[in-house]
Amino acid sequence: MSAFCRRAYEEDGQWLALTYECPNCDTSWHDEWSCEVDDDCPTCGTSCSPADAEEIEID
Ligand SMILES: [Zn+2]
Repeated sequence: MSAFCRRAYEEDGQWLALTYECPNCDTSWHDEWSCEVDDDCPTCGTSCSPADAEEIEID
């Protein structure tokens, strides 16, 4: 997964600002990836899919 993400970033020059909302404890957080990936809740460790993804530009 990570190798695919890195290649997509290099080819497209795109980045995603991801928003996560944990269904288990209502924690929300942000992360940035080159594609949509699951992340673990920093509070309870539940694996969450992105609730929102916004494309951002990188220089
Ligand atoms: Zn949680």
